[in-house]
Amino acid sequence: MRVAPNSITTMKQAPSKRDALPANERLRINEVFYSIQGESRPSGFPTVFVRLTGCPLRCVYCDTEYAFYNGEWYSFDTILDEVADYGARYVCVTGGEPLAQPNCRAFLKRLCDAGYQVSLETAGALDIADIDSRVTVVMDIKTPGSGEAARNRLENLSLLRSEDQLKFVICDRADYEWSCAFVDEHDLIDSCCVLFSPGQGTLEARELAEWILADRLPVRFQVQLHKYLWGEEPGH
Ligand code: SF4
Repeated sequence: MRVAPNSITTMKQAPSKRDALPANERLRINEVFYSIQGESRPSGFPTVFVRLTGCPLRCVYCDTEYAFYNGEWYSFDTILDEVADYGARYVCVTGGEPLAQPNCRAFLKRLCDAGYQVSLETAGALDIADIDSRVTVVMDIKTPGSGEAARNRLENLSLLRSEDQLKFVICDRADYEWSCAFVDEHDLIDSCCVLFSPGQGTLEARELAEWILADRLPVRFQVQLHKYLWGEEPGH
């Protein structure tokens, strides 16, 4: 289930007043829904998505602005019950920017302890240290076309492991060239999986694929599978 923009969470259980929940075991949730993972390495697997409220960035192409403010407070236990109801193996914690809520780290650990294959989607502007080592980190590098390139936290690069993924959303040719130079400068190909995605509505997927092939670039091209399947339809 996914809420339409400007409404609030679809959790089956009623939200709680924030102060009625344990301070270190609560999160503000925008939505929890079940869909096909459309990006990154587990692309194609049925996945439960837990979207946290809030993001300190304002990328020009953002398609989840409804997550900036809308959401309700839930205890970890309630969220875990909701996740369990879907019976999925994969859980993706996303946003907004999930790390903007400090309790996110403890919640990731609880998901791992419960036996899920857990991934975290983060914008790369906040510190990714001290994330449970069982979590796969999918981190953005914001390109100039996003309007938020100044927010990239370069210290995070040295914390990425081979199972983690680094995603560039590329809006145009200038973004592509900037991204190639960034990958080179930071020697990223051998440190993690590098993903290049076309910016939705700003760059044809085929054009990006052709640039990658022409340059013999060893990055992974990806399109947003869920948008291919369902477009902007709510619920996915
Ligand atoms: S980091 Fe993600 S959620 Fe935040 S503004 Fe950028 S695209 Fe939107």
